[in-house]
Amino acid sequence: MNKSNQAERHNERMKRTKEIVDKRIAEAQEERGVFILLTGNGKGKSSSAFGMVARALGHGQKVAIVQFVKGRMETGEQNFFTQQDQVDFHVMGDGFTWETQNRDKDIASAQQAWKIAKGILQDVRYDLVVLDEMTYMFKYDYLDLEDIISTIKQRPNLQNIIITGRGAKKSLKQAADTVSVIMDEKHAFKAGVKAQKGIEW
Ligand code: ATP
Ligand code: MG
Repeated sequence: MNKSNQAERHNERMKRTKEIVDKRIAEAQEERGVFILLTGNGKGKSSSAFGMVARALGHGQKVAIVQFVKGRMETGEQNFFTQQDQVDFHVMGDGFTWETQNRDKDIASAQQAWKIAKGILQDVRYDLVVLDEMTYMFKYDYLDLEDIISTIKQRPNLQNIIITGRGAKKSLKQAADTVSVIMDEKHAFKAGVKAQKGIEW
């Protein structure tokens, strides 16, 4: 095929793609907030959520972040986003540990964090709500999934919400508008590379 034929075919293909994309854009008319669920074993769930926080802030939006893991260590995201006027950042109380020694204490911490999150999900001032690592609360039966799903469904119409964490339950996936399951194909940590500041935390 000569060059001008190739260019012509390319233009024709791009024209068809544009028609399809334009049609889809014209069809997507509904204006409402979305529920995004980022799950799976691959790296990139929380960092994707924080990327959207940065986007939202770039548009002057108001954001709340609730992390459902105890504040184990200083994280870059906490250091950075707590400095932003438009961000409310909450970390679940110190009661939660992975090697759980005191289930009752963990449940109390989880419920306290959920109480804060629930208030946010009823507050029209927040444009974006991130519930980071929340899926573990259902895995350990620390929180009632049905209560959370109904609260999400009743939230202010334009409010966006992102939940992250591995092993999301089926009912949570069904409730979400967008579900990304991030696959773990390869991870440096498994090859013995130490966790990196600015990359991992
Ligand atoms: P990130 O915050 O980097 O986007 P994540 O939220 O997708 O990661 P989590 O399951 O919350 O992943 O795990 C948190 C930590 O574990 C991060 O330091 C992350 O880099 C690391 N991690 C994530 N996936 C893997 C993996 N498949 N193997 C080893 N470590 C991982
Ligand atoms: Mg995470």
